[in-house]
Amino acid sequence: MRYVANSPISAPNSAPISVADYRARITALIRPTPVTLRPTLDCVGLVLAEDLVSGVSLPPFDNSAMDGYAVRSEDVADAERLAAVALPVPVDIPAGRTDIVPLLPGTAHRIMTGAPIPPGADAVVKVEDTDGGVQRVAVRAPVAPGTHIRRAGEDVTAGDAVLRAGTVLGSPQLGLAAAIGLAELPVHRPVRVLVLSTGSELVAPGNPLLHGQIYESNSVLLAAAVREIGGEATVLRFVPDDVAAFHAAVAEHLGDVDLLVTSGGVSAGAYEVVKDALTGQGVEFLRVAVQPGGPQGSGTFKGLPVVTLPGNPVSSALSFELFLRPALLAAMGHTVIQRPRVRARSAAELRSPSARRQYRRGRIEGDVVTPVGGPGSHLLASFAASDCLIEVPEDTEVVAEGDVVDVLLIGGAT
Ligand code: AMP
Ligand code: MG
Repeated sequence: MRYVANSPISAPNSAPISVADYRARITALIRPTPVTLRPTLDCVGLVLAEDLVSGVSLPPFDNSAMDGYAVRSEDVADAERLAAVALPVPVDIPAGRTDIVPLLPGTAHRIMTGAPIPPGADAVVKVEDTDGGVQRVAVRAPVAPGTHIRRAGEDVTAGDAVLRAGTVLGSPQLGLAAAIGLAELPVHRPVRVLVLSTGSELVAPGNPLLHGQIYESNSVLLAAAVREIGGEATVLRFVPDDVAAFHAAVAEHLGDVDLLVTSGGVSAGAYEVVKDALTGQGVEFLRVAVQPGGPQGSGTFKGLPVVTLPGNPVSSALSFELFLRPALLAAMGHTVIQRPRVRARSAAELRSPSARRQYRRGRIEGDVVTPVGGPGSHLLASFAASDCLIEVPEDTEVVAEGDVVDVLLIGGAT
């Protein structure tokens, strides 16, 4: 294996910047994505870019809410269980029948749910209140006018704005868009992210490991995190700690994506390939006052926004959570970009470094949060078992058991 390493082991440089300042920097780096028309089903989780005004009413026509018989209510006013009223049934009206078949007095049309109410009928008798006849029907119960009729426009009136710009499109909203006849929707397109992990020790999952090697996991974690918020992620799985290999891998994709996210190779050691490849090329490397995830880099390389995350899996994941997730959501038009925040009592004592904001993995139940695992940034299993992050402020070095802490609800483990 060949190492090309320019960086000496570097001493910590200037003062770290705050989590909030770095988040603002990353948010400013990633441009809003353009508005595009996309097939409705491809808009899950995306943000609607314009108000949707319905061109049709829903329902579009008066229709039956039941399988049964369309009648004039006065014709069956005297019907009872023991003295049924018998009516001839001239036609069937299944759902989808598009011609108009008026109802003559003293008759009943067999009608199915969703089928148009014939002119002349003012109610539907449900099949359960009849003998189900095909040529003639015995109606065993009276119906009030309007019974089991779904009125045109009851749900939506043509000209209504049914969804507002800024709405996050989930299944109910997409169903409604389809119901008003839209095959495509104007949305902020998904952000396109290239994920590139670095490290000569990394091996693709599915292959055997030698001593000294580990499975590469950050690209899966980061790409999945991008997809979870509606973005598109391409994984360039990983490159060794080799500057030429790094540049070659990135060069292929420069024009295709909105953002390059790397992991690894930005710390204070030697063989820091990302630092070596991007220093002096429009990317600034610095420290953020946070644990885990202090060493960071960001900037623009050959016109492409780049965010370089540290390699430890929890550092990478937390950096995504704190900096990239809100920035990518904002770029895709979301207005709610922060996780829900609650206050809870810590079930255990926590120790945190001074002058750095610490995030600890936890599980929350009611108003008690239980830390999961230690602060080590390699402890991925405890991250996967967590459903929240405990935020220990910069000026707090000890959280006593029972102290109230801020907690970010990140979802996940159940
Ligand atoms: P680095 O930031 O490159 O110094 O890496 C810090 C630690 O994270 C080392 O123990 C690496 O082996 C590990 N690491 C770096 N990248 C990855 C990755 N893509 N998947 C899993 N572990 C990684
Ligand atoms: Mg590395």
